[in-house]
Amino acid sequence: MNKFAFVDCVTVDEALGQLGEGATIKAGGIDLIDLMKDEIVSPSKLVNIRNVDSLRGITVTQDGLRLGPLSTLSEIAAHAQIQKTYTALSDAAGHAATPQVRNMATLGGNIMQRPRCWYFRSTDFDCKKKSGASDDCHAHTGENQYHAIINNDVCAMVHPSSTAVPLLAMNAQVELTSKRGKRTVAMTDFYVPPEKSLTNETIVQPGEIITAVFVPTPDPGTRSAYQKYGEKESFDWPLADAGVVLVMDGNQCRKASIVLGVAAPTPIRSAAAEAVLTGKTIDEATARAAAAAAMQSATPLSQNGFKTQLFQTAIYRTVLLAAGQMQRDPSAIG
Ligand SMILES: Cc1cc2nc3c(=O)[nH]c(=O)nc-3n(C[C@H](O)[C@H](O)[C@H](O)COP(=O)(O)OP(=O)(O)OC[C@H]3O[C@@H](n4cnc5c(N)ncnc54)[C@H](O)[C@@H]3O)c2cc1C
Repeated sequence: MNKFAFVDCVTVDEALGQLGEGATIKAGGIDLIDLMKDEIVSPSKLVNIRNVDSLRGITVTQDGLRLGPLSTLSEIAAHAQIQKTYTALSDAAGHAATPQVRNMATLGGNIMQRPRCWYFRSTDFDCKKKSGASDDCHAHTGENQYHAIINNDVCAMVHPSSTAVPLLAMNAQVELTSKRGKRTVAMTDFYVPPEKSLTNETIVQPGEIITAVFVPTPDPGTRSAYQKYGEKESFDWPLADAGVVLVMDGNQCRKASIVLGVAAPTPIRSAAAEAVLTGKTIDEATARAAAAAAMQSATPLSQNGFKTQLFQTAIYRTVLLAAGQMQRDPSAIG
C-alpha cells in the first residue's frame, strides 16, 4: 500500500475543500482499503467523512425517505418504517455481506463500491478498463463464472451493490454536492455502462460528495422484496439478486419494477419482465413468465450459463415474495 495523508473532516464544506488531485473520500473504508491493499487504487490523501454529522440520519416524511449517505447497512436494515414501507431496501441492506461489514459499511460507499471482476481486482492483469493499454476483457476468454450475462460484450464486470437494486426499482434519487452547488440525479442515470465509459462507473464527478439519497413515497398498494443467491450461505457477494416492486390491486399488478443486480456491469431494470406482469394477476405462471422474459437478452459466457437459470429462480421467487404469495426463500443467502 502507498503512503497517504489522512484528513478527518466534520463538515461537508471541510471535506469539499480537501478534495482534489489524488484525494479520495473514505466512508466506512471497507472497499476502499481493500483496493488500496491490493494496489488497484493509490490515493495520496484520504478524506474521512465518517465524522460529518450532517451526512447521517434517516427521516421519513410524507414525500418519502431521506437517507444520509453515512447510514450504515445495519441501520437501514433495522429501521422499522423502512422494513414496512420500503421492504426491498431493508431486505437488501440486511442481507449484504456480514454483520460486521453491515455495521461499518455506509449507503454512499455501498452504491459507490467498485465492480467485481477478479481480473480488474488483481494487479497481475491489465485490461482495457484499468489502464487502457490492453484491449482485452480477460473474462471473455478466461474464468468467467461470476461475470455478467447481459450487456457483457465490452466488459463483463458486475456491480455488486445490493442496495442499488431496490433503490433503482424504487426510483430513488441521489443528491450530489460540490463546490459548485448541488445536483440531483435519478438512480436510473447513476451508473455508467462500460460501452459509454470504461473509467467512470458512475456519474459522480471528482470533487462531488453524495450528501443524501431520496426515495419517493410508494404508490398505495405497493409491495416489494429483494432476494440474493450465491455460493455460500452468507458472507458472500451475490451471484444473482433481484429487487421487485409491485403496485397491486388485489392480486392484479398495476405496475411492476424489476431490477437485476449482478447480471450486467450495472444494476439493470428488466422492461421485458415488467411488461409481462403489468395488468396481470400475479401467480406462479406469470412470475415464471416474467423471469423467462428477463433472461431473453442474456448472452452468457463460456462458464456462467448457470446464472441465467439462477436469475430466473431469483426473479420468479422474489415476484411471488413481493406479492405475498411465497415466504422468503430458505435457499436465498445473506
Ligand atoms: C465479505 C464481504 C462480503 C460482501 N458482500 C456484499 C454484498 O452481498 N452486497 C453488497 O452490496 N456489498 C457487499 N460487500 C461490500 C461492502 O458492502 C462494501 O464494501 C461497503 O458497502 C462499502 O461501503 P463503505 O462505507 O465501507 O465505503 P468505502 O470503502 O469507504 O468507499 C467506497 C467508495 O465509495 C466512495 N464514497 C463513499 N462515500 C461516498 C460519498 N458520500 N460520496 C461520494 N463517494 C463516496 C469512496 O470514495 C470509495 O470510492 C461485501 C464486502 C465483504 C468484505
